[in-house]
Amino acid sequence: MVVRGTPGASRSNESRSRSQGLDFIRAIVTEDVRNGKHGGKVLTRFPPEPNGYLHIGHAKSICLNFGVAEEFRGLCNVRFDDTNPLTEDMRYVEAIQEDVRWLGFDWDDRLFFASDYFEQLYDYAVVLIERGKAYVDSQAEDEIRQSRGTITEPGRNSPYRDRSIAENLDLFARMRAGEFADGAHVLRAKIDMTHANMLMRDPILYRIRHASHYRSGDAWCIYPLYDFTHCLSDSLEGITHSLCTLEFKDNRELYDWVLDETRVDCHPQQIEFARLNLDHTVLSKRKLVELVRERHVWGWDDPRMPTIAGLRRRGVTPEAIRRFADLIGVAKVDSRVDIEKLEYCIRDDLNTRVPRVMCVLRPLKVVIDNYPEDQSEQLDAPYYPRDVRKEGSRQVPFSRVLYIERDDFREDPPEGFFRLAPGREVRLRYAYFVKCVDVVKDPDTGEVVEVHCTYDPATKGGDAPDGRKVKGTLHWVSAAHALSCEVRLYDRLFLTADPDDVEEGREFSEFLNPESLIRLSGSRVEPSVAGDPPGTRYQFERQGYFCSDIADSAPDGLVFNRTVTLRDTWAKVQAKHTGEAKGRAPRKGAPSGDAPERRSGVAGGRKGRSSAKPSRAKLAMDVEALGLSAEQVSVLESDPGIARIFQEALRTCSDAKAVAGWVTNELVRESKRQPVESLPISGAGVGSLVSLVERGTISRPAAKRVFAELVVSGGDPLEIVRRDGLEQVSDAEALDPAVRRVLETHPDKVAEYRSGRTGLLGFFVGHVMQETRGTANPEVVTELLRDALS
Ligand code: ATP
Ligand code: MG
Repeated sequence: MVVRGTPGASRSNESRSRSQGLDFIRAIVTEDVRNGKHGGKVLTRFPPEPNGYLHIGHAKSICLNFGVAEEFRGLCNVRFDDTNPLTEDMRYVEAIQEDVRWLGFDWDDRLFFASDYFEQLYDYAVVLIERGKAYVDSQAEDEIRQSRGTITEPGRNSPYRDRSIAENLDLFARMRAGEFADGAHVLRAKIDMTHANMLMRDPILYRIRHASHYRSGDAWCIYPLYDFTHCLSDSLEGITHSLCTLEFKDNRELYDWVLDETRVDCHPQQIEFARLNLDHTVLSKRKLVELVRERHVWGWDDPRMPTIAGLRRRGVTPEAIRRFADLIGVAKVDSRVDIEKLEYCIRDDLNTRVPRVMCVLRPLKVVIDNYPEDQSEQLDAPYYPRDVRKEGSRQVPFSRVLYIERDDFREDPPEGFFRLAPGREVRLRYAYFVKCVDVVKDPDTGEVVEVHCTYDPATKGGDAPDGRKVKGTLHWVSAAHALSCEVRLYDRLFLTADPDDVEEGREFSEFLNPESLIRLSGSRVEPSVAGDPPGTRYQFERQGYFCSDIADSAPDGLVFNRTVTLRDTWAKVQAKHTGEAKGRAPRKGAPSGDAPERRSGVAGGRKGRSSAKPSRAKLAMDVEALGLSAEQVSVLESDPGIARIFQEALRTCSDAKAVAGWVTNELVRESKRQPVESLPISGAGVGSLVSLVERGTISRPAAKRVFAELVVSGGDPLEIVRRDGLEQVSDAEALDPAVRRVLETHPDKVAEYRSGRTGLLGFFVGHVMQETRGTANPEVVTELLRDALS
């Protein structure tokens, strides 16, 4: 079973036409194209400096640059911004290309290096000197810095500022020729030492560095600085829109000045956007280099690193990263993004693409006393749950001696523990009901080392013919058949949300999470995974998403990385180390220890999920007057968190029945996975979402998408709707193309419909809804389909 990343796969859904809800960059580009600026062309670039590996922040920039180009039928270059000979390295050049390609982007033959422009850049510097716009300064760099002034005080002119053009040309040529030592002279722009923008106070354009460059070798001993190089490289390549992060806002004036004063033909437009900051990690190359150098991690591709290489090794797909970039969008103000947003995208992507298999992380031996020794049987187990409409199954061997998860057995089960315990019956997934009849303990420690059970042969497949129910379903493996493996559990790299924000005198590395990696050596996985190539991804049932390690996994020594848990388990770890649980408290009365119930189950339909009963609440309102059914009221009162959200939602939406419908279905479903009080979704959010549905602004399927995001990251539904362009489309003309596309792709179904299988109407409606990302008005779609099919 092989499910791997598909680089370069179609991104039609992601790079959707953003006819509604354009971000500010796309709005600018749209205007420029409409006005014929740059001849209506769009050419962007991604300009990494090859001094480290790419991280998820760069991925945002890559998705933006390539995304904008693709959406406007333009192109995007990759250019190495490699003018600093001291930090750059060919191995980074190669790693960066691999990462961009893996993300699914292609630059064809448009791979450039700023270092290839050294000769042209030198000529432009000469133009500035000849025009009296640049001079050679012979002050030390320290003096230059000191004479630059402050925000409130003007700078002082250099004593060398008025050198003649001839002298400047001579000195600059001799700088290039290698006559002077490092630091003896610099070339400065001649702008204005009293300029309000400090960067305009005669910035340095070139400095002397007798250092070998990783590409140009010793050909040069003067190197141009960023502000001189970047704008001219953009111009040389004919870039139209030069997108960069906000810290370059003040540099824009200099960018324009250099291009104006060198009198180039092509003058690209610099536009700044907010850089990505992600909670619980660092995205500064300097800090990432330090983590690697100080051996806090194994290397750049350590699965805990926020680098593309680390995420890839961890099992994250390029699609999930692109979806994340899409979800966070681009803004003009810096902010931090909750890492759960990324995890949500990872789960959402893996959910529908990877097979389920069983792996017991911390094994406990189970002997089925009434199952014959030396007997075994193969049980058929589907790879995918029903809601992931994908086919495929494998055989799992069952025999007398099995392993289950140590946490799934309790000798003294606390209230709310529905897994195995003495005298209890549970279901073994895809197999039988088993009942615990005895335990064997270690005589010294008293620890249970073996559990004895009996099985009921009549329950094969997981159901009892007599209709009796069990509350727990456990994953398991057959001891004789399972493969031994190492499992690496990763968690946030930093305990604090913002490791960049540390008090003076403390180091960001002090806040590393000591449990960011837990290695389990004796885990057991079902034999169906044997032979899968390294990098294969799975969901280990009830445990999370995993992939075999591309570097360390071998057929005789399987190693699996946990990509992401099924649910958030972060609060607990954080509480242990910082003494407080930020935002996420474990559910009251939940079993202590690593409680798989809180993590189990994905996207609906999983049996055997259960947890401790929360206390009940009383709704403070006349429920009868609201027209709610007794059953709804009972559900609403079953959990104080649910009751609170329902009541708060009524303040923004007066349609109590509609609100109750959403809360008792969607929210209650979510509450089975995580305590409601720990979710970022608010009552006001639910209320305004329901209003949007009731007013017809969005369709139900679209509202479900929004709801899923509210549960993970909170927020304002209307903003999400606008950002993602989810407004319901009821205009028949606008929907017609999608309807036609669906009919064209399913000619056989159309024929069947026309020959009388009118029940297929729902099939077509579903596909149109998918095509339109849930934004189509289903009633209008139904009408259109009826017309088209008649
Ligand atoms: P650092 O400052 O940590 O060394 P950098 O931003 O200088 O990193 P570059 O290689 O110069 O790294 O970045 C290449 C491109 O990626 C630039 O256009 C930069 O603005 C963009 N970029 C870098 N970090 C982020 C981020 N966190 N979010 C969005 N874009 C980013
Ligand atoms: Mg940079």
